[in-house]
Amino acid sequence: MADNRPTPRAPGKVLHITSLANPVVKEIRGLSLGKNRKASGQFIAEGLKLVAEAVKAGWTIRRLVHATRVTDDPLVAQLAATTRTRGGDVVVVSEAVLGKMTRRENPQTVLGVFDQQLTDASAIRPGPASVWVALEQVRDPGNLGTILRTVDSVGAEGVILVGDTVDPFSMEAVRATMGSIFNVALARMTSEAFAKLIAAWPGTSVGTHLAGAVDYRTVDYKGPVLLVMGAEQAGLTPALAEACGRLVKIPMAGKADSLNLAVATGVMLFEIRRGALSIDA
Ligand code: SAM
Repeated sequence: MADNRPTPRAPGKVLHITSLANPVVKEIRGLSLGKNRKASGQFIAEGLKLVAEAVKAGWTIRRLVHATRVTDDPLVAQLAATTRTRGGDVVVVSEAVLGKMTRRENPQTVLGVFDQQLTDASAIRPGPASVWVALEQVRDPGNLGTILRTVDSVGAEGVILVGDTVDPFSMEAVRATMGSIFNVALARMTSEAFAKLIAAWPGTSVGTHLAGAVDYRTVDYKGPVLLVMGAEQAGLTPALAEACGRLVKIPMAGKADSLNLAVATGVMLFEIRRGALSIDA
């Protein structure tokens, strides 16, 4: 896991911006494009709850942007003070400017610009109860965000993005996580690197496949578990299907060919974590 502790920086400034032509507005607006996120290593999280969660989890905040009308909100004021202490700037704008930054007609009143944070492959050291999810070539940001949220919900450890995938830091993916992107580990690796990881996996590696001959409810998911999911269109590649210790199928009864990727991942995760989940917890 990457070191979450913020590096000491000089206290941040407070900027009041009214013009849509201001370079800071343009820069933040630019983060909705993948090439700018890649170049800057930054991304946007929208909403007071998400931003507060990220700051609490120790993610590095570069800018806190909020609407003028929420300046006196105690939570916003506290977040602004923490942001400045940690070296981030506080940017106070009108709602029109906020809408322009996030390309939304009804923008949230708060957004944060954060440094992207990924877990290094070498830091994946699964304990006996760990559950990791590997997503091969996931394409849909909504699916990825929903899966991160579900992984968080069941108390699984993290997600490994395998091969060429959608950007987990796109605004759509981050929105769909509802804040869970700040709570679960996220790693990225090539198919070759993942082949090595799965070959050395100490517990159960289970792939999900429409051609799986085993009902997913009959497997003993002895930990640590590595759950491997295929892409939305193509499913699991033959090479990765071959590398999985087990290939399971979720039985279906209607006319649908398959389940949505995020739904299938949810069904699997709740089965794998069945013994660990309780409504009393
Ligand atoms: N046309 C693709 C195929 O042939 O695999 C469908 C892919 S499906 C939309 C996306 C992923 O969700 C699959 O690769 C698999 O990991 C999982 N999945 C969906 N429905 C499933 C089912 N009934 N049983 C097992 N896995 C399923």
